[in-house]
Amino acid sequence: MKLVYKQIEEVNSNSPTLPTTLRNKHLALLFFCFLLFFSITFIKTMENKTMFDAESTVNELRASFATGKTRSYKWRLSQLNQLFELTQFHEQEIVDALKNDIDKPPLETVTYEIAMLKNSCQAAIKELKHWMAPEKVKTSLTTFPSSAEIVSEPLGVVLVISAWNYPFLLSLDPVIGAIAAGNAVVLKPSEMAPATSSLLAKLLGEYMDNSSIRVVEGAVDETSALLQQKWDKIFYTGNGRVGRIVMAAAAKHLTPVVLELGGKSPVVVDSDINLKVATRRIIAGKWGCNNGQACISPDYIITTKNYAPKLVDALKTELEAFYGKNPLESKDLSRIVNSNHFARLTKLLDDDKVSGKIVYGGEKDESKLRISPTVLLDVPRDSLIMSEEIFGPLLPIITVDKLEESFDVINSGSKPLAAYIFTNNKNLKEKFVMNVSAGGVVINDTTMHLAVHTLPFGGVGESGLGAYHGKFSFDAFSHKKAVLYRSFFGDAPIRYPPYTATKMRLLKALVGGGILNIVRAILGMS
Ligand code: NAD
Repeated sequence: MKLVYKQIEEVNSNSPTLPTTLRNKHLALLFFCFLLFFSITFIKTMENKTMFDAESTVNELRASFATGKTRSYKWRLSQLNQLFELTQFHEQEIVDALKNDIDKPPLETVTYEIAMLKNSCQAAIKELKHWMAPEKVKTSLTTFPSSAEIVSEPLGVVLVISAWNYPFLLSLDPVIGAIAAGNAVVLKPSEMAPATSSLLAKLLGEYMDNSSIRVVEGAVDETSALLQQKWDKIFYTGNGRVGRIVMAAAAKHLTPVVLELGGKSPVVVDSDINLKVATRRIIAGKWGCNNGQACISPDYIITTKNYAPKLVDALKTELEAFYGKNPLESKDLSRIVNSNHFARLTKLLDDDKVSGKIVYGGEKDESKLRISPTVLLDVPRDSLIMSEEIFGPLLPIITVDKLEESFDVINSGSKPLAAYIFTNNKNLKEKFVMNVSAGGVVINDTTMHLAVHTLPFGGVGESGLGAYHGKFSFDAFSHKKAVLYRSFFGDAPIRYPPYTATKMRLLKALVGGGILNIVRAILGMS
C-alpha cells in the first residue's frame, strides 16, 4: 500500500500542471483497481478453501492405509457392520432422498436399493473370513519340494464413481467390495441424484471410519480433480463416454479399472411361451425398474412378424393392469431424471423413421418430467431409437421372419450388458447362450441375474470391463498374490552353472513335466 501511495504521490508531484480534480480522479481509479484486485484474490482464496483438495484427500487416506489398519479382519468386519446399520436405521431417509431425486416408488427403493444392499453386506460379513483366507494350490514337480498359495491382498486406496439411477445401491455395493478387500476408499456419488449424494456424505461421515472411508460430493470438476490423482483401482459406473475419460485418466498411472457401463439389452420372444408371465416379467424389468432407467432394463424386443401382434396385445393388457388408464399419474413409475434426458427421449420419439410406429403410450408431461410406458412396433433398425441405449420408458419391437435371425440382429451391434430370451425350446436356449455375447444372460425372465450373488455382474466389450457382486466384488478390489514356499531341503545342483548337456537334458525334462520323461532323462535316454 505504502509503495502505491508513494508512487501516486510521485506521479502527482511530477505533474504540477495537473488540475486537482483530475489528480483526485486518478487516485480514485487507482483505489478502485486496488479494491477489485483484493476482492478477487479474497474470493479465490475462499473458493480454494471450500473446494475439497483431491491431493490431500488421497494423501490422508494413503497414510491411513499405510498404518495397516484396513487390512485387519476386525476393521473390515466393523466397517461392514456399520454400513449395514447405516442402511438399516435410515431406511426412510433413503426412500425420501430417492423420491426427491427421481420420484422412485418406495417399493423399488426398499427392494432394489436397500434390501439388495443389506443382502450384499450380509453376504460379505458372512463370507469375509473365508474370502480372506489364502487359497492353497498345487505345485509341480519342477519346484519339488514346495507348497503354494494365493494370498488376496488389498490394492490400497481406491476410487468409486457411481451413477444416478440407483444412486444408493450403485454407490455402496462397490464400497462393500472395497472394504471387504481391506482398502481405503473414496466414494464419489452422482451429482444428478443430489439428495442421495448428500445423504450418503452425511451417513458415511457419521457411521464409517473417516480416516479410511470418505465421500466426495460434486460434479465434473470434482470428479476430474479426483481422476488426476493416483489410485490403486478406479471403479466407475455410468455411461461409456465418461468411461473412456476414466480409463484415459487411469492409464496415466497404470491404474486398473472396473467399468460398469450400459448398452442395448435385447429380449427375444418365442411363440411357445406362457405369454402372460413373459409379458409381466418384461414389464417388471423395463418400467418396474426405475421406468426403464436401469442399465439392464430390456432395451428392445425381437420377435417374429406373426407373433408380434399377440405380444403387443398382451403388453397393452398388462401395462394397463399395472399402471392404469393414465400412467402419467401412476405413483408406481419413476419420473425422468432431468430435462436433458427428457429432451433426449423426446427426440427418439420425434424421429421421422418411427412416426406412426407407436402402438401404446407416447404421452408426455414435460412440466412433471413424465413419459408414459411406450411401445413401438416394427421400428427400422437404422432409426435413432435403435442407435443408442434408450434408458427410459420406450420399448421398440423389431420383427423378423424366423427367431434365429435375432442372433444376427444382436451380434451385429455392440455387446449388450444383458440379453434375455423367452422360450421353451431347449435347442434355442442353448444356441442363445452359446452364440449371444453379453455381460449376462437370463432365460425366461429379465434383470433377475443381478440378485444372484454367485454370478458375476459386469459387461463385455462396450458394456463394460470387469465384474462384481458377492466374492467377485472382493476379488475386484484384491490383488491375487502368488506365494511359493520352499525349504532349504532338496537343493538341486542341476539348475546352477557350470551348465552341461546332462543338466540341460534333465532340466528340460523337469520343466517339461511328466515323470516318464524325467526317468528317461536320468537314464540318458532323451
Ligand atoms: P451420471 O451422469 O451419474 O455419471 C456417472 C458418474 O460420472 C457421476 O459420478 C459423474 O459425476 C461422473 N461424470 C460425469 N461426467 C464426467 C466427466 N466429464 N468427467 C468425469 N466424470 C464425469 O450417470 P450416467 O452416465 O448418466 O448413467 C447412465 C449410464 O450408466 C447408462 O449408460 C447405464 O446403462 C449405465 N449404468 C450402468 C450400470 C452398471 O452396473 N453396469 C448401472 C447403472 C448405470
